[in-house]
Amino acid sequence: MTGSSAFATLLRALTLVAVILMHSTPSSADTATDSAFRRQFGDGFFDRLWQLNPDWAIANGYYKYADRLVVPDDRARAARLEQTERWTSELHRIDPKKLSPNVRADWEMLDNEFASTRWALTELRAWQWNPAAYNVADPFALLTTLEYAPLEERLRTFLERLENVPAYYAAAKANVANPTREHTRLAIEQNRGALAVFGAELDAQIAGSKLAAAERSVFKQRLTAARASIEDYVAWLEALDGKLASGEVQARSFRLGRELYAKKFAFDIQSGDTAEALYERALAEKETLLSRMALLSDLLWPKYFPNAAPPDDRLDRIGQVIAKLSEQHVARENLIAAVKQQLPDLERWVSEHDLVTLDPTKPLTVRETPAHQRGIAGASIEAPGPYDPGAQTYYNVTPLDDLSPERAESWLREYNDWMLPILNIHEAIPGHYVQLIYANKSPSLVKNIFGNGAMIEGWAVYTERMMLESGYGGSKAEAWLIYSKWNLRTVCNTILDYGVHVLGMSEADVMSLLTHEAFQTEQEAADKWKRVTRTSVQLTSYFSGYAAILDLRERLQRTQGAKFDLKRFHEQFLSYGNAPVKVIRELMGAP
Ligand code: ZN
Ligand code: ZN
Repeated sequence: MTGSSAFATLLRALTLVAVILMHSTPSSADTATDSAFRRQFGDGFFDRLWQLNPDWAIANGYYKYADRLVVPDDRARAARLEQTERWTSELHRIDPKKLSPNVRADWEMLDNEFASTRWALTELRAWQWNPAAYNVADPFALLTTLEYAPLEERLRTFLERLENVPAYYAAAKANVANPTREHTRLAIEQNRGALAVFGAELDAQIAGSKLAAAERSVFKQRLTAARASIEDYVAWLEALDGKLASGEVQARSFRLGRELYAKKFAFDIQSGDTAEALYERALAEKETLLSRMALLSDLLWPKYFPNAAPPDDRLDRIGQVIAKLSEQHVARENLIAAVKQQLPDLERWVSEHDLVTLDPTKPLTVRETPAHQRGIAGASIEAPGPYDPGAQTYYNVTPLDDLSPERAESWLREYNDWMLPILNIHEAIPGHYVQLIYANKSPSLVKNIFGNGAMIEGWAVYTERMMLESGYGGSKAEAWLIYSKWNLRTVCNTILDYGVHVLGMSEADVMSLLTHEAFQTEQEAADKWKRVTRTSVQLTSYFSGYAAILDLRERLQRTQGAKFDLKRFHEQFLSYGNAPVKVIRELMGAP
């Protein structure tokens, strides 16, 4: 055993080096190659990136090029491709083996990013078959709602970028060829919605501003032209959709197919595992969860149904106990108050149980989701980006005001007294909110900007289980049963994403999986079907990240034995920013 413990010591030493690097100023511990990397892929690199992608820059709080709207034509794509090739060769001139571990992680993430961009432009070619890739609304909406500068300055930026809207949609029409019907209809829906950003609210903002008369008149002209070109794009898509329906134009299948899916999975998820292996793991996990849920339901049955014999079918037994528990939920009008009340409990629990250190200087404000951000009922974290770390973090909760009594009741049953805390754990403490604060403290812009979605979602999903393991919720069978239902959703998301895009799973198969084996409502299952026809791979990010973090924790527990410290594990894990779990695993020196 001496050999393996010497190995473990070496690993700890390597881990320690990584931690020291994280907390030292970049230059002091840098190798010469680190410095070369930082020169090549530092501020200048990002400035060029934002110049080519001003929309993405705005979303990250970088406004230098916010007045530009890039027309998505052949020339713009060629420029991106050429720049990507140049960056790739510059990156490959740096030997990653000579970089210190944390910088090597940046190297690996950039390498993946460049390869992914190249592949998306030349092979995936969604710019051709996805008409919903074209929509000007979001960056414009951010310019009017985010108060990063005085209103007049933001309106002038808005006015500049407005000029290219007609050319933008002309290029969109030229690009679209052989689209899927699903993305065509999505594009119609979303571009109709885009008109709201150029509507009465904007007119009122302009009217109330100090813009000069001449500026207002240019604004009026450009707004008229912009609205007309969006309406024209929608009408053009509606005509196209008719031709796709009749077969006059051949529609592409929304199913990605095995080859494209495998590559997209490799680029987006970066788990080092194949999509197929994750799918197999999800199938096995579904069975494990259902077995556990059957045991829990049997345990709870006499308490909730003292006078009824349990049905023979385990899915029926589980479903009936879940339905019974779902009756216990907050009143519609008390939703936001209940969320506000739970957060301090979660904070206290996390601190008292030594799970992760919270930052008292970054308070979380719970608020009703602002009107323009309300899409679907739910909750989400709105956190400042890397260029604006001082900004306020919000926990947006959408009130159920707009829902019919039936829809509201269905939502409340889903987020019942055992589920609502899990939602708060996932979104806020110690889930997304805590992870994002740690990510913004990470000195690596590369890891912030090219953040890995599977790591981010995986962390939030991991914390749900970790909190229950720590005893949160009183270790009650009810809490574990409802949690298992929630976790089953994550597992099924992976099954159906791969199933639909690679294995040709039908809508009926998906509905049956979700309503019978995952205890979801018809509505939720129908929404999920819609989502999987419009996206690919993203639905697997939750389970893939969660599974990878659990694996990492187990490996470290095995090698560190009694020395393993959960809080230290969490904080070290979070200290690397939004790097893929595979990369964090290397940095933490896990076997
Ligand atoms: Zn009810
Ligand atoms: Zn999430």
